[in-house]
Amino acid sequence: MNAFPRLQAIRLYQKVTGRRFLEHLDELNRTQWLSRDELLNLQCNKLHRLLEYAYEHVPYYHRLFDRVGFRPADVLTDLTTMRKIPILTKAIIRENFDDLLTADLQRRKQMSPLTTGGSTGHPLIFMQDSNFRDYVTADIHRHLGWAGWQLGQVHAYIWGANFEAKTSQSIRVKLMNWALNRFVTNAYVLSEQSMSAFATQVRHRRPRILFGYPSSLYRFAEFVREHGFDDIKFDAIFASAEVLYPAQRQFIGEVFGGRMFNRYGTRELGGISCECEAHTGLHASIEDVYIEILKDGQPAKAKVGDIIVTNLNNYGMPFIRYSVEDMGAWRVEAHCPCGRELPMMDLALARRVDMFKTRDGRSVWGGFASPMFGMKGVKRFQLVQKSLDHVVARIVKDADLDEARLSEIERTVKMALGDNVNVEFEFPDEIAVYGSGKYRYAICEIDEPHARL
Ligand SMILES: [Zn+2]
Repeated sequence: MNAFPRLQAIRLYQKVTGRRFLEHLDELNRTQWLSRDELLNLQCNKLHRLLEYAYEHVPYYHRLFDRVGFRPADVLTDLTTMRKIPILTKAIIRENFDDLLTADLQRRKQMSPLTTGGSTGHPLIFMQDSNFRDYVTADIHRHLGWAGWQLGQVHAYIWGANFEAKTSQSIRVKLMNWALNRFVTNAYVLSEQSMSAFATQVRHRRPRILFGYPSSLYRFAEFVREHGFDDIKFDAIFASAEVLYPAQRQFIGEVFGGRMFNRYGTRELGGISCECEAHTGLHASIEDVYIEILKDGQPAKAKVGDIIVTNLNNYGMPFIRYSVEDMGAWRVEAHCPCGRELPMMDLALARRVDMFKTRDGRSVWGGFASPMFGMKGVKRFQLVQKSLDHVVARIVKDADLDEARLSEIERTVKMALGDNVNVEFEFPDEIAVYGSGKYRYAICEIDEPHARL
């Protein structure tokens, strides 16, 4: 169908509701070609405006800035003064929820709640205003454009986060799905039946782009391969919201015959960075976020560190210096052949909650288990560290799984975590999908905030 009626519908919707997704998309498509200095300048001005607003209207920040002697205007001349502001953690958000909301009643009216999934079983509830949501949508669509997609072209999602099960049937969501020409299958409930229905829809509507969690994309790719659906192909596949392991990237790209785009974002912050068509790393969306990568509280430069993000658009509930609990590294002095000067980062590292701990005090990236992906006899697997001495390996078996492979898995775990570790095998029929609809391969329960150490 011609894209025109759909675009008209979005324009009409925006006119009625005051939303600004299309304007933000135009803006981001333009600013991505600015020079590095122009981008940093734009970012600094947005950051300054947010900080002034937070000091003026958000009780938590008003008190905090006074307490630590931080003045928003200082960032205009010296960005390092930002480091006076203590890191915002999930625990602080839970304890100070009301004080983190804007006192500006007009803006409060445009706000709606969202929750993060997360593997800890303790979802974070936060509020987002409509301007933030429009920037989040615009940023996703800018990134789709990097794969050659144009507004109005059909695309498909395997998603849970932005398409809540309970709201997915609402008229507004149906209308937006039609207007943006997208369809979605719910990652919360990926079953044979739902994937079969989704495959039928894909055949019928022929989307060029598929967007989803790496684990969900992988599951759908497995399904497509198992059923020999060789005609299900995409030009580009966007993997977002969790770490994309190399083995997953290769398998998904191979099955669907398309280019893979790794995208990094979270529910509470929206898009943070994304791979462009040159596939040399992830460009940070610095018009929307101010990102710091810190090691022991200091800039990590090109080294791996904790990712700390300030979202520049959510005035309703500002997240300033928020610890995402992910790790990454800047690509210092990297110039991308695409010509965009948005800074580049690498995210080839697991979420911190997925780092395992050892008796001798090491933290081991849970990704060491990724070769078990695609191992003969293993349909799906999950490693759960219960304690420093106890790991549970959950495996959904194929017919071919034999003792030798189990020994191999046990050896791998012991090599990574130590000989003291007792590996217990469980063979469930299915591995549960966690709250957000993501599978987790490597879970360290020692990090559970409420677990006893
Ligand atoms: Zn690029």
